[in-house]
Amino acid sequence: MTGLRDAEVSLLETAPCGFAVFADDGIVRYANATLLEMLGLARDAVVGHHVEKLMSVGSRIFYQTHLFPLLRMQHRAEEIFIALRSANGQEVGALLNATRRERGGEWLTECVVIRVRERQKFEDALLPAKKQAEEARAEAESRRADLQQANEILEQQAVELEVSQQQLSEQAAELETQQESLQALNDQLMQRSADLEKQREIADEANRAKSAFLASMSHELRTPLNAIGGYVQLLAMGIHGPVTPAQAETLEKVTRSQRHLLRLINEVLNLARIEAGRVNYDIERAVVRDIVNAVTPMVEPQLAEKQLTLSADVPASLAVMTDRDKAEQILLNLLGNALKITRSGGRVTVRASPDVAPDRTRIEVIDTGIGIPPNRLQEIFEPFVQVDVSAAGAARGTGLGLAISRDLARGMGGDLSATSVLDEGSTFVLTLPSA
Ligand code: ADP
Repeated sequence: MTGLRDAEVSLLETAPCGFAVFADDGIVRYANATLLEMLGLARDAVVGHHVEKLMSVGSRIFYQTHLFPLLRMQHRAEEIFIALRSANGQEVGALLNATRRERGGEWLTECVVIRVRERQKFEDALLPAKKQAEEARAEAESRRADLQQANEILEQQAVELEVSQQQLSEQAAELETQQESLQALNDQLMQRSADLEKQREIADEANRAKSAFLASMSHELRTPLNAIGGYVQLLAMGIHGPVTPAQAETLEKVTRSQRHLLRLINEVLNLARIEAGRVNYDIERAVVRDIVNAVTPMVEPQLAEKQLTLSADVPASLAVMTDRDKAEQILLNLLGNALKITRSGGRVTVRASPDVAPDRTRIEVIDTGIGIPPNRLQEIFEPFVQVDVSAAGAARGTGLGLAISRDLARGMGGDLSATSVLDEGSTFVLTLPSA
């Protein structure tokens, strides 16, 4: 049944290694006492049972896939490590040598089993070490992946840095170009302003020369014109014989023209003097009401002639720093214009008040005349500019009064300006430093 002779069995029973015999169907035919003791099993729990029953789960699979096919093909296996299972469920590591041979017409496998305590110990230690190594390897792998990723990011950043550095240097070059062109522009501007300054000096010089010329010319003209006036008066008085009515009328026209020319020449002379800077200003404190009161009697004939009303609204407390004669001259000119322009029965007002600008007093001459077209409001302060005033029945003037008045006002630290509503009237505003 075991394939062994009795003598063999008694010899094997207590041999110093485990011994077992099983058939090709896996059923154990014999197990010696050493093996039974090694596993702590009774004989009848082993003999008659399948050999796999003695093995751990892992070794069972190994037996089915490797050991048994090896025995079938080569009839022997040597030093195979196998984990057996003891009665108390513990694994018992053992080395196995096996031979498969035919005995009494049956194929039997005889196995020698040697317990290997040390190997088990090593394997036990090996497993955690292997696990640790595995973990370390995984850790190293993940570190390597992290490093690679970090490296890729760094490389990407290096590329971006290079690009932005390139952009920066392009921008720097562009800035430099712009700076150069700005510098060139600046140089041009400097040159331009130097040229302009030179031209302004030339123009100033020419203006001074013109004014000097006008002043002397006007003087040269005044003398013969006065003479003409005198001789005409003598003729008109009949000094050189009786004068017919027609002659008297002609002499009257000559006188009017002579006076107009004389006035024109006087004003040209005035303007030329102012522009040549040859006018002295005698600035002192003056009460505004006194200035107004000094001028109004001078225009009374015109007021009466055109039946105009002149009203003054001038607080007694207002005083200015001015050359009084020149202030009166300006006011007389403004009042003269206003009366000339205002139709019969109209009203002219002189009003004084502190100006919105600090330390300035304003003196306004307000009329209810024909007004001034908005586009001509600035021009009328230019010399010889006249707007057609025939609508108001006014006589032609010289076109110099406002130019002279503004120059005088500015010469005294003040100004002259105008506002107007066409067909309703105009307001001329003289501002002077308050006292
Ligand atoms: P003139 O009165 O001798 O012509 P001005 O310089 O005093 O010279 O005035 C210039 C022009 O301004 C006048 O011809 C007139 O057209 C206009 N002007 C001046 N004052 C008034 C006013 N109050 N209303 C309307 N127009 C005026």
